[in-house]
Amino acid sequence: MQDIKTGKKYEVCIDNMAHEGQGVGRIEGVAVFVEGALTGEKIIAEIDKVSKNYVIGHINQILDKSPDRIQPLCPYAEKCGGCSLQHLSYKGQLKYKKQKIKDNLEKIGKIQAKVHETIGMEKPQRYRNKAQFPVGMVEGKTVTGFYTPRSHDIIPIESCMIQHEISDNIARIIRNWIKEYGIYVYDEKTGKGLIRHIVTRVAFKTGEVMVVIVINGKNIPCKKQLIHALKKDIKGLKSVVLNINTKRTNVIMGEKNITIYGSDNIIDYINDIKFEISPLSFFQVNPVQTEVLYEKALEYADLSRNETVIDVYCGIGTISLFAAQKASFVYGIEAIQQAVEDAKRNARINGIKNVEFISGEAEKIMPELAGKGIKADVIIMDPPRKGCNISVLAAVVKMNPKKIVYVSCNPSTLARDLKYLEDNSYKTIEVQPVDMFPYTYHIETVVNLQRK
Ligand code: SAH
Repeated sequence: MQDIKTGKKYEVCIDNMAHEGQGVGRIEGVAVFVEGALTGEKIIAEIDKVSKNYVIGHINQILDKSPDRIQPLCPYAEKCGGCSLQHLSYKGQLKYKKQKIKDNLEKIGKIQAKVHETIGMEKPQRYRNKAQFPVGMVEGKTVTGFYTPRSHDIIPIESCMIQHEISDNIARIIRNWIKEYGIYVYDEKTGKGLIRHIVTRVAFKTGEVMVVIVINGKNIPCKKQLIHALKKDIKGLKSVVLNINTKRTNVIMGEKNITIYGSDNIIDYINDIKFEISPLSFFQVNPVQTEVLYEKALEYADLSRNETVIDVYCGIGTISLFAAQKASFVYGIEAIQQAVEDAKRNARINGIKNVEFISGEAEKIMPELAGKGIKADVIIMDPPRKGCNISVLAAVVKMNPKKIVYVSCNPSTLARDLKYLEDNSYKTIEVQPVDMFPYTYHIETVVNLQRK
């Protein structure tokens, strides 16, 4: 370790890829993380940083190339902080994501379950229904784009291959309006200027479009001209909203919305269930794969209309409403009050009555329900990245469901939680990775567990 110095170059064999997609190899037994390097490659790495237990480097030269390496399809790939796997073929991405789950299950969970091939997209481009473009000035020009990795420097982007084309068009129209009417854009460094972000939402099933302009102020000048320009070019435009955010914060949206054109919501469907989406509502960003994910979750739940189901971490009630169509009764539990209100409204507009949404932290609600003697036949859980608190897992075990379906966005906390469930009379039957976020390192997993 003492000999490894910044600026020095080493030949490294990459034998794995880390959580965020960096290649991992060893120099004198010490782990080295290299952005952009792929499993199976031999490279020359130049060291940028030496830490206590590992070092970080960058590729100086590739000696042996992986057959999965491709020329990025996106011209901004090297600079943009959005995608991290543009240099890996789509087939290679699916393989990497499956391996990541297998490694976590084996190392952290000591679980040797069947992990299926990752279900990918037929067309892994233009899949996002929501874009959030920061607006700023770069070299004296008004730009929209994304941030460079780990920074708030905007890289100007006119076309993003994972966003819907309509989102690119909206950004272009607003940029032109800003230029034509001399509107001030926000500057993070001074906290001055008006236009902060452009948020777009495109409902894939209905074609309805929402534009949210996040502003550091109460109103915008030349409103009519903006709405006229948007209406002229954006088919499906249903809603234009000003979102007020006058705080000096990294949080994109403020709490207050003013609709300046059309309605406050747009409508979209997942399968045959209708959802009303407002500027602040959570809604899965990849609608095509969301259906795949939920169908898999329901296949594992294997409902026959007689069961009581609990959907823990239910968000706006998406999985709960699907389950309700096939179960006797569903409880949904969710910490964010606004999401619970959305869930209740979504149940109402779909005429689904056999569901009850409870607002509160799962850590509190689940032990309460277990304490009251409520039994569930099936428990579905879809926790945030940090996974489940042990009190939630203990309550799940106490409720003694026949089946548990665990939906996870983080393989390491998934593995930890599965270990607890395996130690407490559940068996992991099968594991299905679903690719919701092509070209990024993120992966969603659905796990089928049964009582032993
Ligand atoms: N199942 C939903 C949402 C999953 S995202 C869907 O597919 O759309 C995880 C959800 O857990 C978020 O809505 C988040 O607000 C909620 N959450 C986070 N911590 C929680 C806690 N401690 N108790 C209950 N819900 C929580």
